[in-house]
Amino acid sequence: MTAATWPAPPPAAEAHAALVGIVGAEHVRVERSALAAASRDVTENPEGHAEAVVAPAGAGEVAALLAWANEHRVPVTPVVANQNLGGLALPVHGGVVCDLRRLDRIVTHDAEAGYVVVEPGVTFGMLATYLDENLPDRTYSWSFSPPETSVLANALLDGLGTMSNKFGSQGLWINGLEVVLADGTTAHTGAWAVSDVAFGRAPLPDLTGLFVNFQGSTGIATKAALQLAPKLAHTTRRVVLARDLESAFALMRTLGRCTTFDDVAAMTWPVAKLLFGAESGLVRDPDEPEAMVVVDVSANTPKEMEGKLDVLATLRRDAVSAGHGLDKAFDMEHLVRLVPRYAPLARMPTTLDFMLDHPGGGLTWVGTYGPTSRWEEGAREGCRILDAAGFPPIVVTRPMATGHYGVLRFICLFDRDDPADVERTRRTMVAVATAMIERGYIPYKTPSYAVDLLLERADPGFTELLGTVKRALDPNGIMNPGRWGFGPPG
Ligand SMILES: Cc1cc2nc3c(=O)[nH]c(=O)nc-3n(C[C@H](O)[C@H](O)[C@H](O)COP(=O)(O)OP(=O)(O)OC[C@H]3O[C@@H](n4cnc5c(N)ncnc54)[C@H](O)[C@@H]3O)c2cc1C
Repeated sequence: MTAATWPAPPPAAEAHAALVGIVGAEHVRVERSALAAASRDVTENPEGHAEAVVAPAGAGEVAALLAWANEHRVPVTPVVANQNLGGLALPVHGGVVCDLRRLDRIVTHDAEAGYVVVEPGVTFGMLATYLDENLPDRTYSWSFSPPETSVLANALLDGLGTMSNKFGSQGLWINGLEVVLADGTTAHTGAWAVSDVAFGRAPLPDLTGLFVNFQGSTGIATKAALQLAPKLAHTTRRVVLARDLESAFALMRTLGRCTTFDDVAAMTWPVAKLLFGAESGLVRDPDEPEAMVVVDVSANTPKEMEGKLDVLATLRRDAVSAGHGLDKAFDMEHLVRLVPRYAPLARMPTTLDFMLDHPGGGLTWVGTYGPTSRWEEGAREGCRILDAAGFPPIVVTRPMATGHYGVLRFICLFDRDDPADVERTRRTMVAVATAMIERGYIPYKTPSYAVDLLLERADPGFTELLGTVKRALDPNGIMNPGRWGFGPPG
């Protein structure tokens, strides 16, 4: 640790001693390999420079760490698995990386109110095991992110999962938070602020939103009460192959709105080839479907399931009658029996190895939420930009909240050890984000290049209010500086 690079030093030795005093010597890491690992992720976003990686054990240690950092104007970047794919946990202004993986307790659940209280280090894998063992009639909206990623961070980032069509983005699943603010004070949000049962956000002023999508720049959540969904006795995942993206969108629109299905998502043809182990030179045969629509269905009884599958068959037939190219739906399990390499698409949580385990290991995306009225136009333009830059057109899309809005996510795999490839990826991501913003789509898990593009166009009143909130909650600017356009500690 070098004193010169602390923004307003306490001298390195003094800082180190203070951190050791808070979390213990074995949980303060300053060796080169640990700092390098915390300063980099799998994306094209510029590396940061951590000066210490500190792993607190509970809310009390988080509070003591923030109080110390606030007093000394030291940046603090919270992180769990660092797999957000937006560069959001990179310590761009140095300081301390706060590794939250030791806060890994599933504190309690309330079966009657249908929620679970988790710490930030609880992963999708851990939650799945806990529900299997303790609440087999409840489930969660599973993200396609690796099982070792944080459920709480995903909810704070308004992520999306296997129940997004029915219930919307993950921020809405937060009933309440326990948060530590920059000065070390702790607060609860939601009904939890008053009631011992964290039953919902209503009816108090909704302060939970002060921490959703702020990317750790307003405080650190040390607990969240997260809603669970009923796990119905009968579930199936059906697949419909679509001749082209337009046919896929037509089907997704109608399936999304009919309110029958848990989730509806589509992915384009390169995903199928990558699952097969292809790495480069992907080419689509003109007879191959352009997209695969995946529909998650759950029901209380076999008869209800039959009825829901009948709705799927009818709506598909109607779309075909309207001129769309859509094959009959089939069971994902059948596909996996025929082609075992598709197994990662059939179970949740899952590991999509092909995305991370390839030469160069770079993975990034522009993921956006926006109006489904511009789905087709946005998807075609994004694919055109990817194609022009030499990337296969990997698009994942789904209706959200029964089709009130939709997702367009453009994914790029690249070689992060090749500076030219990193630069090509960076330019492409900016071009895709710009094209989407022009169409009214808004990048989620917003990387800083996309923040710049958004704030250029944002309502000045919004930008002013954003600054007012940030200054009120983090007056010295220590919380994950670099996010949402806020600079280093002042
Ligand atoms: C292959 C792959 C597939 C993915 N698929 C999906 C998908 O289908 N849906 C989806 O939504 N996401 C997906 N993701 C994105 C991502 O993995 C998830 O959003 C994930 O849950 C983030 O968890 P993390 O532990 O990596 O968070 P991190 O990257 O460690 O943190 C994310 C952000 O939250 C902040 N933060 C972390 N903890 C706290 C806290 N306690 N308080 C305040 N701020 C905090 C960090 O500073 C950072 O800004 C995918 C990622 C990969 C690699």
